Amino acid sequence: MNEEMSSRRGAWLRCYRCWSQRLEAQVHYDAILRINPATGEGDERIDEIHEAVVQCLDCMHDQPHLTVQEGRVVPIEDRWARMVAGKPFVASCTVTVDQELIEACSGPEAADSLTYGAFGDAGNREFFTHVRFHKHEDELIVVHLLVELYARSEDEAVDVLTEASRGVLEITSLAEESRPPAHAGEDPH
Ligand SMILES: [Zn+2]
Repeated sequence: MNEEMSSRRGAWLRCYRCWSQRLEAQVHYDAILRINPATGEGDERIDEIHEAVVQCLDCMHDQPHLTVQEGRVVPIEDRWARMVAGKPFVASCTVTVDQELIEACSGPEAADSLTYGAFGDAGNREFFTHVRFHKHEDELIVVHLLVELYARSEDEAVDVLTEASRGVLEITSLAEESRPPAHAGEDPH
């Protein structure tokens, strides 16, 4: 591996919140075994990654800008630069979606289901969301949320929210927060 490759890896192979490089991946595999009829043994073992979650050992947050491919951590291209170089923004917003997009709006699944209905995968995996309440209007559901996301500018934060939104998005306020302090290991003290 040449030097350029390794310095580029250093750019993304870190926690997007505290920049720590102490990461851990939880990988769940599905194993598919082809059974040998003579011995009953599983001959060909084909592992398929079912789910991989990379976590920071210092701040314990999941790392949605990283995933695992063929046993190696790789960055998610349209996400890592924005998240590692960005700052947290907090948006207060509503997303109005067709009620069919929301599986459950009461009970223990409600918050996840309303978040997924409003912002899809990004809502459940990348953003920190808090559903404040929701309202039914005929066939529509208006979800009121607080969302924290990482972006390099206010415009980019608006773009990310707009792209993730599965319905009509209305942002009532958007504020830049300060980044959590870098991990103590990189602190000169
Ligand atoms: Zn961290």
